[in-house]
Amino acid sequence: MKITAITPWIIQVPWSERPGETPSEDNKRELLFTQVDTDEGITGWGEVTTYPGVAGNRSIAHMIREVGATLIGRDPAHIERIWNDNIRSLTYVGTRGAVSATASAIDIALWDIRGKELGQPIYMLLGGPVRDRIGLYTHPPQTNEPVQAAIDAKEIVASGHRAFKFDPMMHSIPEGNAHYIDGQISQRGMEEAWEITAAIREAVGPSIELLIDAHGKYNVPTAIDLCRGLEASNIFWFEEPVPVESNHALRQVREKINAKISVGERLFTRWEFIDVFEKELADFIMPDVTWTGGISELKKISTLAESYYIPISPHDASGPINVMAGAQVMMTVPNFYKLETSRYDLSDYNQFIDEPLEIREGDLYVPDRPGLGVNLDPDALKRFAIEGFNG
Ligand SMILES: [Mg+2]
Repeated sequence: MKITAITPWIIQVPWSERPGETPSEDNKRELLFTQVDTDEGITGWGEVTTYPGVAGNRSIAHMIREVGATLIGRDPAHIERIWNDNIRSLTYVGTRGAVSATASAIDIALWDIRGKELGQPIYMLLGGPVRDRIGLYTHPPQTNEPVQAAIDAKEIVASGHRAFKFDPMMHSIPEGNAHYIDGQISQRGMEEAWEITAAIREAVGPSIELLIDAHGKYNVPTAIDLCRGLEASNIFWFEEPVPVESNHALRQVREKINAKISVGERLFTRWEFIDVFEKELADFIMPDVTWTGGISELKKISTLAESYYIPISPHDASGPINVMAGAQVMMTVPNFYKLETSRYDLSDYNQFIDEPLEIREGDLYVPDRPGLGVNLDPDALKRFAIEGFNG
């Protein structure tokens, strides 16, 4: 079998504001997928949706197109060799971040092809299952109102999910990471975060796991103050307290808070996790399969974490290929905590996939269909794709 084409797709698909609402043209969500075709008619799908804004997706889509062109004629079963070639071919611009995301898109699609060729789900090619379902954690809609936050939280619990994640500081720093300057939040913004979190804890009771995402936006003293107030609501983890560049800053925060720390969505490839384990910087790691190096790399990072007895909880907050690629690996990983999804109701994906994801009571059931277990609908992609990345 030979690779005949590698095609990045960027779609802008109508999205619903809240679960159950009709997807709206005014609220589109951008997703970046990769199609890998072969001379035997088998197609594999990858994903690398990135944030924030459009520049990241378009830059990486161009890289996928350029790197993909060098792979025409290669055997898609040579997944490990192609991963290394892709990473090393871009050594002079660095091997991680955009480069590992590009490698991820292709790697995921190659595993999809390999599974389809052999008639097996990917988890059967990675050592077989150690569990029969994938526990999920999810997200409520963003709000700055404690009353609304409590209503949304109860809706998630009613769906059967036992954990969810939110950023109660988001409305105070709406520009997020794109405009990081001083790493501070106003006193009022901090108090509102504590109030929203307390209202949610009050609404859901003591046993639901509340994960707080700081999105790497704070300096050391701000992160410490923020977390100490959140600890009153018995949060389950405090995610990315400081920007990813300084493990020293992360250590300072870790030494002064009680909450467990999770990091990893901005760490790429196995090499960037070594310091986290060796310096004991986190209680959980949460790499994203579409950014850290794909299925091949997520499996290796999981095993590395296992050897330190650190649980892994993939960041899979983008599209359905992201979710299923993470789930396929976690079916085989003993030290798995939970897999992330962007909301408890993922039916908006059904506008462009062939089979709805099977989620019941907060668990994802991975089908025994070959490959990833989900396919994108090319007609739907055509309908939602943007100029220049439409096949
Ligand atoms: Mg996060």
